[in-house]
Amino acid sequence: MLQKAARNTSVKSISRSGLLSWEDLLDNPQRNPTIMISVSQAIQIVRQQSHLLATEPVALANTLSRILAEDIVADSDLPPFDRAQMDGYAVRAADVSNTPARLRIVGESAAGAGWHHEMKAGEAVRIMTGAPVPAGADAVQQVELTREHDGLGFVEILEPVEPGRSIVKQAAEIRAGETVLRAGEDINTAMIATLASFGYAQVKVGRRPRVAVMATGSELVNVDEKPGADQIRDSNNYTIAAYATQAGATVESLPLAGDDTEELKRQIAAAAGRSDVLITSGGVSMGVYDFTKAALKELGAEIFFERVALRPGKPTVFGRLGDTLVFGLPGNPVSVAVTFNLFARAALRIMQGAQQPQLPEETAVLASNLKGSIDRESYLPAVLRTDEKGTLLAEPLKWGGSSDFVAFARATALVNVPAGVKTLEKGQSVKVARLPG
Ligand code: AMP
Ligand code: MG
Repeated sequence: MLQKAARNTSVKSISRSGLLSWEDLLDNPQRNPTIMISVSQAIQIVRQQSHLLATEPVALANTLSRILAEDIVADSDLPPFDRAQMDGYAVRAADVSNTPARLRIVGESAAGAGWHHEMKAGEAVRIMTGAPVPAGADAVQQVELTREHDGLGFVEILEPVEPGRSIVKQAAEIRAGETVLRAGEDINTAMIATLASFGYAQVKVGRRPRVAVMATGSELVNVDEKPGADQIRDSNNYTIAAYATQAGATVESLPLAGDDTEELKRQIAAAAGRSDVLITSGGVSMGVYDFTKAALKELGAEIFFERVALRPGKPTVFGRLGDTLVFGLPGNPVSVAVTFNLFARAALRIMQGAQQPQLPEETAVLASNLKGSIDRESYLPAVLRTDEKGTLLAEPLKWGGSSDFVAFARATALVNVPAGVKTLEKGQSVKVARLPG
């Protein structure tokens, strides 16, 4: 096994593509995290290391945006009885093939109070939307096409009606015992009626991951402070907290940490003890004051990767300290948004049991030329819009690079440019990943 691993990670196999193959990474117990890996390899590693958290029952009213941890099964037919779809008269279609037809009103079926007798030829039952259709009737004629003379006990049906009209048969929508939603789906607003109708007062969902966020950098001050000389306000803690909350996590923001290994170690160790995931920003590049990795390593963290062939976001770090997953994101605000959404979001969603942990991917037509990178895959901010023909267009943002968070404020998606593609031309099809809103 060791021999095989050694052969797989020979210098030759690495240098040919500049990237380690996924098989090499899996087979090699002493894999080298400093080697630059592809985005898809990094995502695979994140998925492999992210473990399912416990499930918890939550009251239906609080389930929006949580992830289902159980299959949802219909406890009754839908509709539970043959149901009128209109206000009008339950009739036998054969009785009204020649109109006007005069029928005797023998009863009334209201929602919640049906008429439970056999309706015979020549008879009609006044019926309301949502009420059970009586036995013997095979159609409902809507009230607008009828005329009832007050007090006489008869109704005139003014137009013929075909059998089955305005009746939804019992179980036409769902049969009792059918699975209607599956574990791993995101609970959205459209699903709430289904959960309620089948009696799910409590719904089993994935537990929310506890996330600690920690911005690092001696230049940072809090949002409520006026930056002094050489200082800037921290934005990353807020960005990460917002995305993490949207991904279902509960978030604790740690105090800003300066570029000091001991201070970083102290905060990281404390945070790791009480969070499932720690997400730091800054201090992972090649500068002399970039200490995040050193702090993690000195604390004994296992580092899975620290360089990804990604633009922006190359120095992204991923590791584990005890049971806590650690993402060391780069400091530039746009790199934070990109790397959070490619990697950390997936981890948070996997921990809650999501079937689709990645950002939803679509194909769009590029609205203007876009430059790629020779050795890295790019995820570049863009606005999605639909043209008058209905084509989905991706309009790349004009931006000044990964520090330009003001330009990024308009982004609704990331356009993917594969590594090695110099330029994508206007009009070409591109893969886009929609950002959470
Ligand atoms: P670093 O990755 O630490 O080299 O930081 C890269 C750039 O991002 C620098 O210009 C930092 O000042 C900036 N930066 C780092 N952390 C933050 C933060 N929390 N909020 C806003 N900008 C930051
Ligand atoms: Mg820094």
